[in-house]
Amino acid sequence: MTRRQTIAANLEAVEGRIRRACDAAERRREDVQLVVITKTYPASDIEILHGLGVSDVGENRHPEAGRKKEELGDVGRDLVWHFVGGLQSNKAAAVAAYSDVVHSVDRAKLLPGLSKGAHQAGRPLACLVQVNLDPPEADDTSGRAGAGPSDAADLAHAIETTEGLELRGVMGVAPLGGDPATAFAALARIARMLGETHPRCRLISAGMSDDLEQAVAAGATHVRVGRSVLGERPPLR
Ligand SMILES: *Cc1c(COP(=O)(O)O)cnc(C)c1O
Repeated sequence: MTRRQTIAANLEAVEGRIRRACDAAERRREDVQLVVITKTYPASDIEILHGLGVSDVGENRHPEAGRKKEELGDVGRDLVWHFVGGLQSNKAAAVAAYSDVVHSVDRAKLLPGLSKGAHQAGRPLACLVQVNLDPPEADDTSGRAGAGPSDAADLAHAIETTEGLELRGVMGVAPLGGDPATAFAALARIARMLGETHPRCRLISAGMSDDLEQAVAAGATHVRVGRSVLGERPPLR
């Protein structure tokens, strides 16, 4: 099989999973956006994905993400770029300049940089509040990203009041070894709570290769799928 055939077959399988999950939850397929997470994979794979009709891709590392977009030229400009990785405040402006949606906004310290990058790019930047869904008793030293659930409202307000930033929703990653359904239900509650004060805050980014069904059941509007489409990633350098 060529790389294109492999990716096409995987994509079809993932599409089937999303469709069945939507049917089971009595949701419309078009209300769930597939974001293919292309981190560690070459720009040539993104070109194949684009050719197969994928509209949204996600990356988690700067500057790798920006480089790939640049390398892809017109194809890169035609795609919607999601940034889903941990952010450093001194890189936030650069990431904001080439990303369409940043899913990993987890502290107010990032906002000046994101605002600056959005301004440089000449358009508002869609931001999601990343919420830490680990159970409260989880070991703090694990260093997993995300604002604490009780800090989400303050961060949401700070985003909404920062020039160039648009609060569009929330993002979460199910806890390692935990129950994704419980975690995603908590994320959906936070999304509803924020939606009461911020009507445009409607997106729920949840679910990856192993738990996209639970995410769709909990109301995810965006699923972030890497391995199930592109295969196991080579080990991190
Ligand atoms: C890598 C990554 C994904 C995709 O994970 P897979 O297990 O490859 O589907 C989703 N979200 C984030 C934040 C990631 O870093």
